[in-house]
Amino acid sequence: MASSLIWGQYVVVKAEDDRSITIDNGAVYQEDGVIRDVGPYDVLKSKYTPDQVLGGPRFAVIPGLVNAHSHGRGLTTFQLGSVDDALELKLIRDWARRTTDPYLATLFSAMQLISGGVTTVMYNHIQAPPDVMADEARTVLKAFGEAGLRVAFSIYFGNQNRLAYDDAQLLSTLPADLANEVRGRIQRLEMPDEDYLDLVAELHRSYDKGADGLVRVLVSPMNVQWCSERLLTKSREYATRLGAPIHIHLAETVYQKLYALRKFGVTPLRYLHDLGFLGPDVSLAHAVWVTEEDIRLLRQTGAAVCHNPSSNLRFGSGTAPVLPMLNEGVRVALGTDGTSMNDEDDLFDEMRLALRLHRLPGIPVRAPTVHQVFKMATVNGAHVTGFTSVGTLETGQRADLVLIDLQHPSAPYLSPNVGIVELILARVRRSDVHTVVIDGEVVYREGRFPRLDQDAIVRELQNNAARDQEAALAEGGRMAQRLVPYVQDFFQEWDHSGVEPYYAVNSRT
Ligand SMILES: [Zn+2]
Repeated sequence: MASSLIWGQYVVVKAEDDRSITIDNGAVYQEDGVIRDVGPYDVLKSKYTPDQVLGGPRFAVIPGLVNAHSHGRGLTTFQLGSVDDALELKLIRDWARRTTDPYLATLFSAMQLISGGVTTVMYNHIQAPPDVMADEARTVLKAFGEAGLRVAFSIYFGNQNRLAYDDAQLLSTLPADLANEVRGRIQRLEMPDEDYLDLVAELHRSYDKGADGLVRVLVSPMNVQWCSERLLTKSREYATRLGAPIHIHLAETVYQKLYALRKFGVTPLRYLHDLGFLGPDVSLAHAVWVTEEDIRLLRQTGAAVCHNPSSNLRFGSGTAPVLPMLNEGVRVALGTDGTSMNDEDDLFDEMRLALRLHRLPGIPVRAPTVHQVFKMATVNGAHVTGFTSVGTLETGQRADLVLIDLQHPSAPYLSPNVGIVELILARVRRSDVHTVVIDGEVVYREGRFPRLDQDAIVRELQNNAARDQEAALAEGGRMAQRLVPYVQDFFQEWDHSGVEPYYAVNSRT
């Protein structure tokens, strides 16, 4: 039996909407990965004889953070040569992006997440060609397992409209040689829906150990415009049968909303609702272009939103109406989409942005509270990933926690009036993360990962990213460069002047 007592000047037990439960000079006692007791340090110290004591009066103990939307490529898309653009164009320009070995990339990504205080990640694997999809999935899961990070794993899968939101129409506008080349490229991803869903079912059987385990396997149809109705319906059926949560991108850009309005006469969210797709086991990444009626449907069905403010700003997608969602009682979690504001996947920065982005002018200022934002990155993230056993430091929960060194955030002076959650949201950064414990095990301490040879991983990843990929990149780049003007023309014809802007929903709270 391995036990430890984790001690801090503050213990943040649980975030609620308008307050957080905290203990001054508190401690958490865990045995074999389960929190057995939480309370004043002096009391717990005399009650238990742990194998190890971590922390001290210089620290805050907080629940491990949950990054609720990530594609975890290790190096960011920017580092791999893809600059920011509107999402619909970036997805084409990504054809000239360097690739990296999934094992090394995942190990590196896990190190980035853990060193930033993240103990659980919603990892959404980008669809690979069918001949490598299963191997890639197992490789990624192996790497997360070696890093000791808790992961809600899914493969992002679509079966249509890989170029624009009507591929047949777009292809008809291309010169014949380009159309042929492009068709060849996208055909490489073709795979029967059942093969994907059966793979998910197999991964679920092999890896998913439920809410107390380290791995959950989710079903992840890509998005309304990228999935046939049959794929969405089948995905829902499989998820129900497996007892697996669903993670889907939705209404990220105005064109995605327009797609559903033009094709189905309703918003993407209403469309999913009418299909019987939504429920408390569904989380929607982005949900930027939703209406007030959509927000009511979210509340009624219990479906949650994974908010990615940096990513939405970087791709010019807009800003999700988070304040109306919170006011309506919708569950909102927080993610970085691997595309954070400082390109570092730092969830503290993401919390800071989420806190400040939704402030509406006037007296009083209407804004999410620090506690609501901290709840997004802990309790709500735990819910959407299917790990209800984390996100708080209550007795009986799994022991995922982070020691924050308060020296820098409170130097050279901090008013005693400042609350610990306020301080975390205002001033804490990745560099203040001292120790990270996942399932009772120290997986990060003072810049080192006891489970990993971090220098070797970084060196090998550097070499791997820098390997000669010039021929493939040049081919993809040339094709993308020719294609982008046609994609631009395609969307230019989609008049979005009649679509209610996202900021109108944002401002009516
Ligand atoms: Zn995403």
